[in-house]
Amino acid sequence: MRALDRLQEIAAIAQYRPGYSPEEDAAHELAAGWMREAGLETHVDAGGNLHGRRGLPRVWSGSHLDSVPTAGRFDGVLGVVAAIEAADRLSDVPLGVVAFRAEETGPHGSRRVGELPEAFVELHVEQGPVLERLGEPLGIVTGVAGQARGVVTFDGRADHAGTTPMDARDDALVEAARFVLHVRECARDGAVATVGEVEVEPNASNVVPARVRVSVDARAPTAGRLEALVAAIGFEPGTLVQPVDFSGAPLEALRQVLPGAPELVSGAGHDAMVLASAGVPVAMLFVRSLNGGVSHHPDELSSDDDVARGIDTLTAALGVLAR
Ligand SMILES: [Zn+2]
Repeated sequence: MRALDRLQEIAAIAQYRPGYSPEEDAAHELAAGWMREAGLETHVDAGGNLHGRRGLPRVWSGSHLDSVPTAGRFDGVLGVVAAIEAADRLSDVPLGVVAFRAEETGPHGSRRVGELPEAFVELHVEQGPVLERLGEPLGIVTGVAGQARGVVTFDGRADHAGTTPMDARDDALVEAARFVLHVRECARDGAVATVGEVEVEPNASNVVPARVRVSVDARAPTAGRLEALVAAIGFEPGTLVQPVDFSGAPLEALRQVLPGAPELVSGAGHDAMVLASAGVPVAMLFVRSLNGGVSHHPDELSSDDDVARGIDTLTAALGVLAR
């Protein structure tokens, strides 16, 4: 299948293709060639995003070609390659294909896109285990979870690790450890919460920890549930991104061409979220991730059959939207 060969060609440029780097440039150059082969006219906008167009398209599809240092072959790239395949098949339909810049470190490119379409559909690998567990090849994404991030500090007292009895200690790391377990308990029913960073002072093996700072990353599918999660954990978010609900014609088109498909809320942000926040009707199609849903890792995998199904479905949905 040509799409699979193209994933391989992009991966062969470099595993790590940072936003606005020569490696990302090379990926965009390859994709531009494929767009022209599919009969699209290419141009680059002020944000450096690559566009391929037939006619004056109201409907766009695409994703990103940059990657993280430990990347696999599918994240982002599949969405661009699939959109080009769809454009190739829908040869009589005005359609836009876009490769956004610097998604992984931003998203930056999709924020600087300038003009906006009337509808956008992004195909992406799930990057999680839900579809694999359901035994379903494809899922319809109805929105992106909201996210609250902050830092919590625990103050104790530095003491000698040998001479201070256990009942005379004020150990900040022990308090922080209780908090980590509390955070895990608070996240349930589709909400998630993570302590991923810990800073210990003085961070010495023979000193009782005096001060500990931990990060909190809490995500939930609705604004109300995010608020409840933050309250249950008990922290002051430094950053709060509200959930985004997808709606309108793109979501209806996916439901029409994929009746009965499971519907999911994405825990990860995507370029589609940026467009949705700008007021564009948006939907996403997830392709099942195998290997337990691992992503940002070389073991990231979707089957050839699932990729083929994803491209067929994207093509059908774009056909419905653009005609
Ligand atoms: Zn991605």
